Amino acid sequence: MNNTKAYSAASATSPLASTKIQRRDPTAHDVQIEILFCGICHSDVHQVRNEWSGVMPTVYPIVPGHEIVGRVTKVGPAVTHYKPGDLAAVGCMVDADCTCPECHAGFEQFCPNMTLTFNSPDKHLGGVTYGGYSDSIVVNEHFVLRVPAHLNLAGTAPLLCAGITTYSPMRRRGVAKGKKTGVVGLGGLGHMGVKFAHALGAHVVVFTTSPSKKEDALRLGADEVVVSRNADEMQKHAGSFDFILDAVSASHDINAYLNLLRRDGNLTLVGAPEKHLEVSAFSLLMGRRNLSGSLIGGIRETQEMLDFCGKHNITADVEVIPIQKVNEAYTRLLKSDVKYRFSIDMASLKSE
Ligand code: NAP
Ligand code: ZN
Repeated sequence: MNNTKAYSAASATSPLASTKIQRRDPTAHDVQIEILFCGICHSDVHQVRNEWSGVMPTVYPIVPGHEIVGRVTKVGPAVTHYKPGDLAAVGCMVDADCTCPECHAGFEQFCPNMTLTFNSPDKHLGGVTYGGYSDSIVVNEHFVLRVPAHLNLAGTAPLLCAGITTYSPMRRRGVAKGKKTGVVGLGGLGHMGVKFAHALGAHVVVFTTSPSKKEDALRLGADEVVVSRNADEMQKHAGSFDFILDAVSASHDINAYLNLLRRDGNLTLVGAPEKHLEVSAFSLLMGRRNLSGSLIGGIRETQEMLDFCGKHNITADVEVIPIQKVNEAYTRLLKSDVKYRFSIDMASLKSE
């Protein structure tokens, strides 16, 4: 067992603070990774504050973080794909049974025995898993991803959640040249969605509540930007979208976006607000529109996404912070005040 430095929250209302946690010694198929950068996902904030209590109640203390990039320090004797010194990444999952139909189909995220990177029963040590706001992590090699060597590491960490969560539905729904694609909410997920939709050749329209993000949205690859509080601007796009990705973290009117879909168009929800969203039947009946959800992506597709990013030189736009600023970062995230992902430089944890 290894003592590892980490940041944890003791309750839904406590700030994150320095602590020590245990990591297992690598077993035969495990990879031990020194964490270099970890992104801050809004899901970290939802779970630290126990906002998803109905679906996955938070167990305290919680060590969040599932956008992890680091360097391999040790491998178990049966590990074949990684060696000490390699760059490696870990996303939202650290284990699954790898035998069920979902796992066989490459959808480990839907395996009934999947283990999330944090706040999930830990099959090895008991208690719950601890995430990436820490010095190191030990993960079964199947759940370790390869990082394209030339990408900026701080900007690569967010690809492990914000990246795959937006890439997966866009590929599945055929976002491509000639397809009008909307992205709602220009946060960590949304800005990755814009980059992917642009790289895939779609006509991209960003919907934002923040007029100050207009210029950035265009720079990130949007062809048009709509300030969603402006009803006239919204109305101009009625019935015209093939696909809309909704990446909003808070309550909002989803019908306003369903009404922008053309016949048979699809709106995929990836945002996971605390409260239920209300859907009007007529938003779906008219134009027989489709409403879907999407949850991260499987391991194979996550590697495909990282390779796509390597080929197209795509990383997240990040504000790099020391771990000591994590509570401030959470407050700012709640005000939509980040361009466009916080990435924690984990070297800062060494001074704790
Ligand atoms: P984020 O960086 O905080 O971005 C959320 C964006 O939503 C904000 O930047 C803002 O964009 C918009 N927004 C915030 N409050 C709003 C409100 N009251 N009304 C309308 N728009 C609002 O969050 P994130 O990390 O991208 O995560 C987004 C959501 O996806 C979270 O709920 C997260 O838990 C969820 N998530 C889901 C998955 C999955 O697998 N499905 C994976 C990761 C995260 P503008 O300023 O442009 O309006
Ligand atoms: Zn996430």
